[in-house]
Amino acid sequence: MSAFTSRLNPYLASLPVYVPGRPIEEVAREHGLDPSSIIKLASNENPFGPSPKAVAAMEQAARQFHLYPDGSATLLKRRLASVLGVDPTNLILGNGSNEILEFVGHIAMRPGVEIVASEFCFAVYPIVAALFGAKLVTVPSKGFGADIPGLIAAITPATGVVFLANPNNPTGTRTSAEDVRRLLDAVSPEVLVVMDEAYIEFLDNPVDLVPEVRSGARPNLVLCRTFSKIYGLAGLRLGYGIAGKELVAAMEKARQPFNVNSIAQAGALAALDDTEHMDRTRANNRVGVAYYESAFAKLGLRFIPSSANFVLVEVGDGSKVFAELQRRGVITRPMGSYGLPQWLRISVGTPAENARCLTQLVEILRPA
Ligand SMILES: *Cc1c(COP(=O)(O)O)cnc(C)c1O
Repeated sequence: MSAFTSRLNPYLASLPVYVPGRPIEEVAREHGLDPSSIIKLASNENPFGPSPKAVAAMEQAARQFHLYPDGSATLLKRRLASVLGVDPTNLILGNGSNEILEFVGHIAMRPGVEIVASEFCFAVYPIVAALFGAKLVTVPSKGFGADIPGLIAAITPATGVVFLANPNNPTGTRTSAEDVRRLLDAVSPEVLVVMDEAYIEFLDNPVDLVPEVRSGARPNLVLCRTFSKIYGLAGLRLGYGIAGKELVAAMEKARQPFNVNSIAQAGALAALDDTEHMDRTRANNRVGVAYYESAFAKLGLRFIPSSANFVLVEVGDGSKVFAELQRRGVITRPMGSYGLPQWLRISVGTPAENARCLTQLVEILRPA
């Protein structure tokens, strides 16, 4: 170990590591496959790609690349605010919604503070908690979903933040409107509640908490959303938080001046207008989730009914099946790092991609 390491932030030593989905190019090289023959169903991306309107707007924006971006993203915020029916001061943009989660860390986490989250929660919550030296309190899940009474019971005077993803990744489970409100009502106003709504656009009847932010009724609530999932812009890195003005102002202090680049601002602005692309993605997803779920049921494979754009399925040795699928050009996500070594998470692709994934999976699982 080098001498400087003794002076590093001691929290780094126990920091969990985020394991991302494998990139297509890397898998192609490793297995001697043609990149165009590989399908990636590993990171819950949009199988149709970005909206063509967003791509055109981004190409246009590239011509102004010599200029710094608008540091307050005026146009994008104004447009988002009008879509959501909030004031621009209720919005904060991030380099992915992961950056919003980090802003929450900056403003609310430090040693002695407890962070409450569910077992099988999104990997970034424990990472942010550890980075700021806060103590993560994990509440056992109930049927793979969040145990709301359990989360409420875990809140103590030391609690600073409660995280809930709805729908949740990696389980795809959904918390009912009643339970969401039960949680919000039970949390004292000193405690921040982060509702991670990365997959909300895939729901038919989502719990709409925007009115409670709009009215000022819940100044301790932040809703996190992203352009990475239904909008098909994961590579752009753009997410946003919706919260009361005071909470937004606090998070703004932790934000770098130009955290959202000009291409991202232009792409997102155009993507918001392409509701057709979203509708098509949503419809494809509905069909895809049903396809996987009915196939798994027929095969006798246990799965968690999904409210998102992926399905969690029990396959035995998850890392082995993942490796076999990958060798055959299908990238999925093994779940060992989430404490689910028997499971694979498969993102919904196009119908052809889903069929190919399933065919390969059946071959791999067929008794020799
Ligand atoms: C994918 C995902 C995000 C989005 O992250 P970005 O940084 O916006 O790409 C956030 N939360 C959950 C639960 C996710 O699955």
